[in-house]
Amino acid sequence: LSDRLTSVLQNLRSKGRLTDADIDSTAREIRIALLEADVALPVVRAFIAQIKERAKGAEVSAALNPAQQVVKIVNEELISILGGETRRLNFAKHPPTVIMLAGLQGSGKTTLAGKLARWLREQSHAPLLVACDLQRPNAVTQLQVVGERAGVPVYAPEPGNGVGDPVDVARRAIEEAKRAQHDVVIVDTAGRLGVDEELMKQAADIRDAVQPDETLFVVDAMIGQDAVTTAEAFRDGVGFSGVVLTKLDGDARGGAALSVRHVTGQPIMFASNGEKLEDFDAFHPDRMASRILGMGDVLSLIESATKVFDEQQAQEAAEKLTAGQLTLEDFLEQMLAVRKMGPIGNLLGMLPGGAQMKEAAANIDDKHLDRLQAIIRGMTPAERADPKIINASRRARIATGSGVRVAEVNDLVNRFFEARKMMQQMAGRFGFGGGGGGMS
Ligand code: GDP
Ligand code: MG
Repeated sequence: LSDRLTSVLQNLRSKGRLTDADIDSTAREIRIALLEADVALPVVRAFIAQIKERAKGAEVSAALNPAQQVVKIVNEELISILGGETRRLNFAKHPPTVIMLAGLQGSGKTTLAGKLARWLREQSHAPLLVACDLQRPNAVTQLQVVGERAGVPVYAPEPGNGVGDPVDVARRAIEEAKRAQHDVVIVDTAGRLGVDEELMKQAADIRDAVQPDETLFVVDAMIGQDAVTTAEAFRDGVGFSGVVLTKLDGDARGGAALSVRHVTGQPIMFASNGEKLEDFDAFHPDRMASRILGMGDVLSLIESATKVFDEQQAQEAAEKLTAGQLTLEDFLEQMLAVRKMGPIGNLLGMLPGGAQMKEAAANIDDKHLDRLQAIIRGMTPAERADPKIINASRRARIATGSGVRVAEVNDLVNRFFEARKMMQQMAGRFGFGGGGGGMS
């Protein structure tokens, strides 16, 4: 894929503008990348449509070619969708906070229960783990092992009482938590291999019994295309307030993340990336976006191209300023740049005299700026490059040509000379090597 994309990038290099054809050809590559990452097809379609819309309205970047620009937009959009509303766990006003875990069998709920418990304990909480998976013979023991590793107690039905009722266990666990002053209760539930009505009913009954503050949908990142139907089933059957993506240590590209997010709109809160309890992290949208796109090399190329371009622009501006070669054209450009707070604007802020320039620009409204632009456009190239030659008769001609009063032309020219003088003085004082006015 990388090779193919690189060739698209080369074909498009040095064209200045984002055309529909540019967008379409890059969108095709993006579509393949997303499908390869196992993003569900309807989600891919919706996402591509969204991207095309955004790319069409995009400002043309001088640092990137069109294909790179589209990829940049895609990456930003992915990060924003995946990150949308990353948020912390909701804690209850009146403890205990109840966190219920739901998801298919093998998705990693029990493992996650241990990870969450350990993580919360490290933050000085006193969690209680609750074994509500009474379906599988070893499920309770598994949670007890995990609890022991996490150093967190486990509430489980008494052994030898036959198969208990998970709803009953959940209810009694909350009482126990209150009695023993646990401020967080983590409820591990049963899962099936596929979506199953009985399972959903049980999960919904447990939910009604414990009234969770958070219900986390635990989903295996390797689930691929099935992510959509599974997420929809849990959304409708139990409902959830957040998503945890597991098994990110595997080689799945993680398209499930985008699918689940797209279908349910719920935030992805945590990432599980291994079997050990410490293999657990907050979810990072930027890393996930890059993983889904699978264009790490292209993304870093884009990043460095943008950076190099910014640096070049800044460098050129700095050289002109300190060499006293500032022209009226630069002056106008910089006013515009400062207003946009672009790279030159930031640079100006740091340069001696730049602060004044920033202030000057801040006092200029758009209409005024248009007039300044008109005045400067009304000058000959020679006048713009060397404003010293702008004498009285030239001023009168410029004023008439650009439809302003002579006083406005005077004002602009004076302001320009002031700015230039100030910058040269400051540059000299701060040792910017401004002395060599002979620099090209
Ligand atoms: P549950 O059925 O939803 O409770 O899932 P489990 O917690 O029992 O996990 C099922 C299997 O997946 C176990 O063998 C876990 O060790 C493994 N597992 C869980 N989370 C991860 C993970 O993030 N990475 C890896 N590699 N394995 C995991
Ligand atoms: Mg389990």
